[in-house]
Amino acid sequence: MNSSVADFQEKMQFLADAFIKELPEKIKDLEASWHQLQNEWHIEALAVTHRKAHGLAGSCKTFGFNELCHAADALEQALKESLRSKVPLDELREEIDVQIKELNLLVSNPAPDLARVVAQKLNDNLIDSEEACHVFVVDDDHEAAQELALQVSYYGYEVEVFVRPEDFRAAIRKSPNAIVLMNVESSNDAMAGICIMKEVQQEMPEPVLVMFISSNDDLTIRLEAVRAGSIAYLTKPINSTELIDQLDSFAVPQTQEPYRVLIIDDSEGVLAYHAAVLELSGMVVRTVDRTNAIMKTLLEFNPDVILIDVYLPECNGVEIAKVIRQIDGLLNVPIVYLSSESDFNTQSEAMCLAGDDFLVKPIDPKQLITAVTMRVRRARLLRGLMVRDGLTGLFNHTAIKEQLGREIVRSNRLKTPLSFAMVDVDFFKEVNDTYGHAAGDRVLKSLARLLKQRLRGTDIVGRYGGEEFAVIMTDTNAPEAAKVIDEIRKVFSRLMHMSDNKEFKVTFSCGIADIAHYPDVKSVSDAADQALYQAKKKGRNQVMIDSDD
Ligand code: GH3
Ligand code: MG
Ligand code: MG
Repeated sequence: MNSSVADFQEKMQFLADAFIKELPEKIKDLEASWHQLQNEWHIEALAVTHRKAHGLAGSCKTFGFNELCHAADALEQALKESLRSKVPLDELREEIDVQIKELNLLVSNPAPDLARVVAQKLNDNLIDSEEACHVFVVDDDHEAAQELALQVSYYGYEVEVFVRPEDFRAAIRKSPNAIVLMNVESSNDAMAGICIMKEVQQEMPEPVLVMFISSNDDLTIRLEAVRAGSIAYLTKPINSTELIDQLDSFAVPQTQEPYRVLIIDDSEGVLAYHAAVLELSGMVVRTVDRTNAIMKTLLEFNPDVILIDVYLPECNGVEIAKVIRQIDGLLNVPIVYLSSESDFNTQSEAMCLAGDDFLVKPIDPKQLITAVTMRVRRARLLRGLMVRDGLTGLFNHTAIKEQLGREIVRSNRLKTPLSFAMVDVDFFKEVNDTYGHAAGDRVLKSLARLLKQRLRGTDIVGRYGGEEFAVIMTDTNAPEAAKVIDEIRKVFSRLMHMSDNKEFKVTFSCGIADIAHYPDVKSVSDAADQALYQAKKKGRNQVMIDSDD
């Protein structure tokens, strides 16, 4: 088993144990609130009692104590009923007493099978998701399959080729999260691939992600493909940029900065549980369980997404969401409510007021990760429009220059090397003239994608101008940077581009300078530009360092 998963399971067991230990105390506390309420009825005291029952139901659910959860839930419903009608609880008194008794009985003998529940969920969900970058190409034409696999592998996917359906079936059973590129036609059947997928989908517990590839653009075949679970249908000849875009949107990108998630919840156990799930999938999580700590954390942590419990001690989640919406710079941060609240009216009210989404506890780990991922992706997309280039998604000219300034200051302070590389596509005008501007755009996108894919997460990539790119490589001197970029140059020169059924290849040249010789933005970018000019002069398709000449 993967060690981070083992750590996670250990953490879960620890959280569940801690939760069980605290349970009797929590129920006693709830009971005390209830007794006090009976002595002196007061609407606010009733709200507090309700919140306690609500919290108890939620955390019992999260940790898999189903019977306890039912009891707490029933109690919560009764209290809520009274809270709504705002009349004292005479009629409900007996019922509530019974439920509290029931809770006490259950807690003296809880039957948690948490470790098993969580382990099962993880086995089903999280472990497999590590294979999300696995691609299976299935085609009885071995040569075509190999060529497609090669193109896809250039973009960082692990690809396996299957010529025989039975080999593919055995493999997909073992790696159900692989993305399948299935050829529709075989040599003797116009829908062979679709038939195979239909059978596979039937025997798999979760739908397999499949993209069909076909030379046939018929509606009937497309329809059958949809019935076989297709997430995309690509017609031959395959445009690899489009294919990669599709693959990227389903596979988790590894090149991004980790997602930052802030969780606000008054239950420590629930906080820790959600944090552990999200951290396991590589996110950075900050948790807040007291209202007064929220402001500081909000400003300092700069979250990509905020998850809020609907019921909190000093205020409710909707109020906090409104406050967040009024803070400069946080207007666009997605807010997702996490609650065991299943009352639909409350949900839609909460959403109308300030939030973007609602997740009902207990949240399946995979569902939590998906919901957060989708929100962050979208939010980053919107925010990125400001500093990013529309075509490639890379930093635009202004942004990359700003970053360069910042990184130079940092490198000088830390006394670490830093290189700046300028990349320019060779004879790009010819590409446009021969294959059209749209094909040219696709070439630029594929180069952008390749640079991001192949460079480290700490390197910063930008589109400097038309067909010119800039890369800031932190902690890297010029010779090291040249080695890395030269590898990318080789891969790029082998990529097959496509326009109107015509295939073509493109190369780039690169100039590199480092701050050991040119310690400020202007001099280092001028030097890189000069090196690029030399690379062009020497025949293009090569990488030069500024001092080479
Ligand atoms: P060299 O090898 O010397 O760099 O030759 P080149 O043809 O690449 O250089 P040149 O500067 O003469 O031409 C660059 C071309 O890039 C001209 C311009 O129309 C094209 N271009 C600039 N921006 C874009 C864009 O966003 N999309 C497309 N398709 N073409 C662009
Ligand atoms: Mg050029
Ligand atoms: Mg140019």
